[in-house]
Amino acid sequence: MNKKYQVLRCGRLYDGVTQEWKSGQSILVEDHLIAEVGSEISVPEGADIIDLTDCQVTPGMIDAHMHMDYFDWHTVREEVYTQSEEAKTLAIARCAEKALRRGFTTVRHVGGITSNGYGVLDVKRAIERGYFPGSRIVAAPMFLCSAGSHGDLSQGFAKNPLLSQKLQQERLTLGVGKDYFVNAVREQVKYGSDFLKIMATGGFFTPYDTPVQQQLNDEELKAIMDTAHALGKTVTAHVYTNELMQKLIAFGIDGMEHGSLMNRETAQLIEEKGLYLVPTFCPYEEAVHYDPEEIKKKQPEFRKKLELYKDALQAGREVICSSKIRLGYGTDFVANHQNYESGYEYEAWLNSGMKPFDALKAATSVNAGILQLSDQIGTLEPGKLADISAWKRDLMHDTKALLDCAFVMKEGKVYETESCLE
Ligand SMILES: [Zn+2]
Repeated sequence: MNKKYQVLRCGRLYDGVTQEWKSGQSILVEDHLIAEVGSEISVPEGADIIDLTDCQVTPGMIDAHMHMDYFDWHTVREEVYTQSEEAKTLAIARCAEKALRRGFTTVRHVGGITSNGYGVLDVKRAIERGYFPGSRIVAAPMFLCSAGSHGDLSQGFAKNPLLSQKLQQERLTLGVGKDYFVNAVREQVKYGSDFLKIMATGGFFTPYDTPVQQQLNDEELKAIMDTAHALGKTVTAHVYTNELMQKLIAFGIDGMEHGSLMNRETAQLIEEKGLYLVPTFCPYEEAVHYDPEEIKKKQPEFRKKLELYKDALQAGREVICSSKIRLGYGTDFVANHQNYESGYEYEAWLNSGMKPFDALKAATSVNAGILQLSDQIGTLEPGKLADISAWKRDLMHDTKALLDCAFVMKEGKVYETESCLE
């Protein structure tokens, strides 16, 4: 079969690693791969020329913390019980397509919020086979959790114990004891989970728990990590407190999500071990840049917790931003934006004083490493998959620039874009 060649003429180019814009660059794409990048590349006869000279060209963006299985954040709590598993799978497919059209060519699903099944793996495989368009998916379909924990959505019915218990029992990866979780990890891996996600502490969004509770005991945590590692899988944890972050590090955790109450001592430990953190800034913006009017719009119990922990969240944000931790870019949208609007996290990073190149690197080469896909994506260089995004608004000064994708290519195929700003 004849090879297909495309040449992308770039205005400015960021390669995913080097903190600079290169001008006068072109990219030669051969079928689904990047063949050459440079100022003087070969242009094969019959190559399609794509003019991006009025754009900033970057690797395809990656969101490392997504919950893809709901249609609309305003109704996410209802969707847990009012949508069928089939409908939730449709929501995942829709999210994958909309994320792709916004320049995010790869996403990491860190456990279903509404779903209690494996639809995300079906969507992932269908996209890989080219049945419909969507971002590449790396997924942990279900998070491992305990009764009453942040992962136990039946806690919303806790004042009706009989109903709550029934719903709790239907949750496929909710249980107790070391043996339960050893088996749960093995099952997740059997069904195709790319990594394991655990709910280690409570959270902000759930009504009856707190971010400072340890919700899996030491024995359970250790059993999960040992089993996952024996099967060649990594583990990441939803976690807030310093005590538990330090414990997880001692038990061999591979990376962590949120870490929002972090102190300097914990940050140093993470730096020393070279672990990653996906800090997900967006959900805590109203507390960190204190805005009582915005907080008032949240659900009552979420609101209370944001008020209660706002000083600690502010201090934690400063520690994270001034650290040398390997930070990934992830959104965790369940309560303020749609799950496919990944560009909002860029605004949050810049508003916290992070440098644009640090945010761009987090969303490209650093995230590729977190997803264990560094050999395929995350940088613009020969041999990598041709996942390429382009942006017209100034990424160096415009905090909304990543909300407005101008061009997206995934594995050499160009897709129509959608803006989050329309
Ligand atoms: Zn999350």
